[in-house]
Amino acid sequence: MASSQLQRVRIVIRGAVQGVGFRPFIYRLAEELNLKGWVLNNTQGVFVEAEATADVLRQFLLRIEREKPAISFIQSFEHNFVDPVPYDKFEIRESTDGAKTALILPDIATCSECQREIFDPTNRRYRYPFTNCTNCGPRFTIVEALPYDRPRTSMRIFKMCPECSAEYHNPRDRRFHAQPNACPKCGPHMELWDETGAVASSGDEALQRTAAAIKAGMIVAVKGLGGFHLMVDASNEAAVVRLRQRKRREGKPFALMFPSLQEIVEHAIVDPMEERLLRSPEAPIVLLRRGIRDDLAASIAPGNPYLGVMLPYTPLHHLLMRELRMPVVATSGNVSDEPICIHEQEAILRLQGIADVFLVHNRPIVRHVDDSVVRVMAGRELVLRRARGFAPLPVLVDNAAPDVIAVGAHQKNAVAASVGNQVFISQHIGDLETVPAYGAFEQVLADFTELYGLQTKTIACDLHPEYFSTQYARKQSRVDVVAVQHHYAHALSCMAENQVAPPALGISWDGSGYGPNETVWGGEFLRITQTGFERVAHLRTFRLPGGEKAVKEPRRVALSILRETFGADLDECGELAVLLAFTAKERRLLDGMLERGIRSPRTSSAGRLFDAVASIIGLRQVCRFEGQAAMELEFLTHKIETDAAYDFDLNDGEDGRGIDWAQMVRAIVRDVHGDVPAGVIAARFHNTLVEMMVRAAKSCGEEKVVLSGGCFQNRYLTERAIQRLREEGFRPYWHQRVPPNDGGIALGQVAAVSRMKFNSKKEEGPVVCVSQFQERS
Ligand SMILES: [Zn+2]
Ligand SMILES: [Zn+2]
Ligand SMILES: [Zn+2]
Repeated sequence: MASSQLQRVRIVIRGAVQGVGFRPFIYRLAEELNLKGWVLNNTQGVFVEAEATADVLRQFLLRIEREKPAISFIQSFEHNFVDPVPYDKFEIRESTDGAKTALILPDIATCSECQREIFDPTNRRYRYPFTNCTNCGPRFTIVEALPYDRPRTSMRIFKMCPECSAEYHNPRDRRFHAQPNACPKCGPHMELWDETGAVASSGDEALQRTAAAIKAGMIVAVKGLGGFHLMVDASNEAAVVRLRQRKRREGKPFALMFPSLQEIVEHAIVDPMEERLLRSPEAPIVLLRRGIRDDLAASIAPGNPYLGVMLPYTPLHHLLMRELRMPVVATSGNVSDEPICIHEQEAILRLQGIADVFLVHNRPIVRHVDDSVVRVMAGRELVLRRARGFAPLPVLVDNAAPDVIAVGAHQKNAVAASVGNQVFISQHIGDLETVPAYGAFEQVLADFTELYGLQTKTIACDLHPEYFSTQYARKQSRVDVVAVQHHYAHALSCMAENQVAPPALGISWDGSGYGPNETVWGGEFLRITQTGFERVAHLRTFRLPGGEKAVKEPRRVALSILRETFGADLDECGELAVLLAFTAKERRLLDGMLERGIRSPRTSSAGRLFDAVASIIGLRQVCRFEGQAAMELEFLTHKIETDAAYDFDLNDGEDGRGIDWAQMVRAIVRDVHGDVPAGVIAARFHNTLVEMMVRAAKSCGEEKVVLSGGCFQNRYLTERAIQRLREEGFRPYWHQRVPPNDGGIALGQVAAVSRMKFNSKKEEGPVVCVSQFQERS
């Protein structure tokens, strides 16, 4: 059904695509595929809108990159699926001026010509790790101010030699106005440092000794494009375990860098969309299913059927990987949740005791930019962490209020700023738990304000009074501060990037967000209207014994859910792994807390429901990283095919309808005792959640249904929700270029302010203060 529906894709291609026959090429390809729509050029790049079925549009996307004019080069290739217009023909439209806002490009993976040069012994850039050209190389990580010109980049400290300067000034040269242009004579160079910061070797020898150190099982800190990586041999279990211990990162999967696509294909299953992503100028980490070959260290991603994989994306990485000829772990150079290191002196201090040696260089990194993470879901790309290659490209929004800064939420923080009808979303900053992370947050805000010359009039923040980001907003003077409810922001974020106008049903499911009624929200069904939102339904609430502690311990949530379902004595439960997971003392304490409601806030969290089920079926009692139990529950559904779902109830309540999972929990306990395989229970649980969405959508009655929140990083849940909603006649929308998790909150906050201002201008009804929710009438 999905594939026969007409869809529209909007594409923005940036790079050397003007004056090289790109528009006629797109036109011919569109004619051949019988697409409708248009193509035009402006100062920002080539813009395309094309309509066809999803399958044909995917072919179109893949063929643009494969068959593009030989002299063109794509620096960034953005695309978004939106509703069809529909168009009746395909045409080349008149060029427009485009937005006047100066645009900073993201960093671009090394192009094939530069790759050829660094491996050509006769080339003057042979084995030079800082080779780049107009088509590739650093951008966002070296720019200090606009306009983007060498004196305003961190390359200003290097004076071009006569040969580089000649290339730079020659309009016919591939390096014409390539701001980071450099060569071994005049550009940056590498050094290998020992753990005290003393120089051990330099130049090519540093690179060779780095490779030798990795092969010998050492942990090497490598200064790259947007910060440091920590690298170890991916087949050396002892080295990977050592890295985990030193980095204090218990179970969270490590990303891998492979020397070539060929080697990736040996270890993982790669479909054409995923291959496009791996080789794209963005070159993100792509989540791929593991393949047959299994000689990687077990500790890389324990119990995880996916591998996070990327290809080398700078000449330094290409040279190092050519030397190594084997995959390496390439994880952010930091301690657990702190921001990634960017300065070598800082790295020596912060990575002390973690890295054995440091491969550094003297090209300053102006701002930290992590590797992006992307997953293909429902046949489209879904960005889970938006950083290198994507940031700071803007998202176009209808009716964006100007001069708004949004400070995002608490976890996976990213900030955003509106300039004209564009919203610039910052690179991923991280969880604002530590002092360094908060410092990075303040720095990114200052950086954005300066780069874009923002005259901030309004700051949007989360409704949670204790988020550091909220406290930051409240401290600012001479600006309006607007607090936006978390799940409303999630829904608006998804609507903004899909260009969906209200009314719509927003299904915002995540771990937690501040609810305006003294409960923690997280399983929300919000009717999004012109002026605000109405909570039409939510998951039945339950207590979280110990608050934050319950987030780390699914067994606590399970105990609470079981008591809600079966009553305090739990006689009916029989012997369950979760009940054996507590000492008698722990049980007494928790039972007491739950009975009296001490430090046990009520929540409607969908994320916690995943935790509870993972615990009840004996999968996980205590998490080693955020979201682990839910992730493992999703993995169990792998290769299970069932449409069966459990029963549940929909009850009227005074605060929207309550979706009651108690029947489902009873059935799950029965299945556990009936020795139903865990994978089948997990699939039935997912299916039940999807049926809850369908039932709520039917009772709400809005055709458009928007899926947002961290739960929609789950592929099984998202794909099944899309399929079932479509079968029932709804139009589902999900995220694409903006993460469904809290990394997308800032965009939703900008959208909330825009909606307020837009409505007050039109004087159409009352302006709903988004810091309060409308009571259901
Ligand atoms: Zn190049
Ligand atoms: Zn030079
Ligand atoms: Zn959230």
